[in-house]
Amino acid sequence: AASAADDSEDKEPGPLAGLNVMNVVVVASECAPFCKTGGLGDVVGALPKALARRGHRVMVVIPRYGEYAEARDLGVRRRYRIAGQDSEVTYFHSYIDGVDYVFIDAPPFRHRHNDIYGGERLDVLKRMILFCKAAVEYGTTYLFMFIMGEHLQVPWYAPCGGTVYGDGNLVFIANDWHTALLPIYLKAYYRDNGVMQYARSVLVIHNIAHQGRGPVDDFSNFDLPERYMDHFKLYDPVGGDHSNVFAAGLKMADRVVTVSSGYLWELKTSEGGWGLHDIINQNEWKLHGIVNGIDMREWNPAVDVHLHSDGYTNYTFETLDTGKRQCKAALQQQLGLQVRDDVPLIGFIGRLDQQKGVDIIADAIHWIAGQDVQLVLLGTGRPDLEDMLRRFEAEHNGKVRAWVGFSVPMAHRITAGADVLLMPSRFEPCGLNQLYAMAYGTVPVVHAVGGLRETVKPFDPFADAGLGWTFDRAEANRMIDALGHCLNTYRNYKESWRGLQARGMAQDLSWEHAAALYEDVLVKAKYQW
Ligand code: ADP
Repeated sequence: AASAADDSEDKEPGPLAGLNVMNVVVVASECAPFCKTGGLGDVVGALPKALARRGHRVMVVIPRYGEYAEARDLGVRRRYRIAGQDSEVTYFHSYIDGVDYVFIDAPPFRHRHNDIYGGERLDVLKRMILFCKAAVEYGTTYLFMFIMGEHLQVPWYAPCGGTVYGDGNLVFIANDWHTALLPIYLKAYYRDNGVMQYARSVLVIHNIAHQGRGPVDDFSNFDLPERYMDHFKLYDPVGGDHSNVFAAGLKMADRVVTVSSGYLWELKTSEGGWGLHDIINQNEWKLHGIVNGIDMREWNPAVDVHLHSDGYTNYTFETLDTGKRQCKAALQQQLGLQVRDDVPLIGFIGRLDQQKGVDIIADAIHWIAGQDVQLVLLGTGRPDLEDMLRRFEAEHNGKVRAWVGFSVPMAHRITAGADVLLMPSRFEPCGLNQLYAMAYGTVPVVHAVGGLRETVKPFDPFADAGLGWTFDRAEANRMIDALGHCLNTYRNYKESWRGLQARGMAQDLSWEHAAALYEDVLVKAKYQW
């Protein structure tokens, strides 16, 4: 768990970053453990800490959707006018694990904890505009104060404490369309006016499917000079002429990262780029693919706190046999399944939408239910798909359990207790659940796409290599084929199974490696390489 420390704590840079120690301001719409709906939340929860461990001075800026006990009011108040409406913004702060967290509080964010992207399209857009404005101004002004001291008459100032290294080392990391306005504001409000000349922005694509599309006159809400309008304008056969926030952000950011090389490749194609492939291709020089890491304090069977009770237990590779068996029994018990060690337990965890391919599981449900297996599904999302999960359970009672809802403990327990994790995603920028699965000795069966293709090398029985099973089309018969091979190996080739688990668990999937790669990108942005 995170430990809050006061602001006077030593924030001297560590040894790794050396001369390139940076001020990094990560701005995102979600961040675990405060608010999370998916992988973005996990990344923003972990990457900043890993960058801080490398010696960078790191701030995370997120909306204050709920009352976070750790955060205290900084007493700073600002007003922003968005589309004719005034919003008062206040700033909360806490310092946890070497990272400054700044929470932006304003009426539109409050009580959104369980529904952070909910509401009318235009309301969501306005929330993100407010958030980006408050973030870019906060981050920059706060750093300015240190550089210029009291000479700069900033209207407001929030103390976070610590050392600052100048705007030449300042990089913003924006994430997905929600914060894609940030690189634009940074330019339009600062650089165009001769200030913050050396501040840089990196935009991370976690998922290109959501872009902040809307009618062309969305532009009037952005509060930008007319000459910026063209950056937002996009034409495609589906949307016609429209305004596209992600498109503008991609053009304006100094660097763009996406969460795997496999996904980067797909983004360049007309199928995978979702209308933005031309922009991606034109900006190829500034693109980087970096596979997400996993937070080894959260997702590690040796220390996982969700395995401390209800019969579950922590385990390592050395205690895999007894430990994982115990977790499996605890999961079966908790879900009212028959407690049997010999039956393969298959898990699925994910948002219930078109992307995650839960309907492909539906197409295969009779085949699956015809096997001697247990299937556990955890998910929330589209109501029709939630109903479908409940139906699976009713129709295949005793074999299938559906947990409709968002439960972090359950996600951890399924990851530990299952033998197999099924991911039939139609597209998957990186995918975290397959990484978690491998770290827990759970073997992934995945559609070979994006980050899944990159991280799950197919099992090769002859070379005794590989990490799981893949199928090359998001179709039930392909998935059944792969799952069939997987189940056969589970039942009949114990040594091979053990090898798959061993290779999965032996990988270094921690953020340390990915953070070093991010650091390279930050340095490239800084020197405009
Ligand atoms: P995405 O970001 O597309 O949703 P990822 O695989 O990158 O997919 O990340 C999903 C994250 O969200 C994982 O941490 C996963 O455990 C979590 N998650 C998804 N659905 C649920 C749920 N119903 N309950 C708990 N955690 C969930």
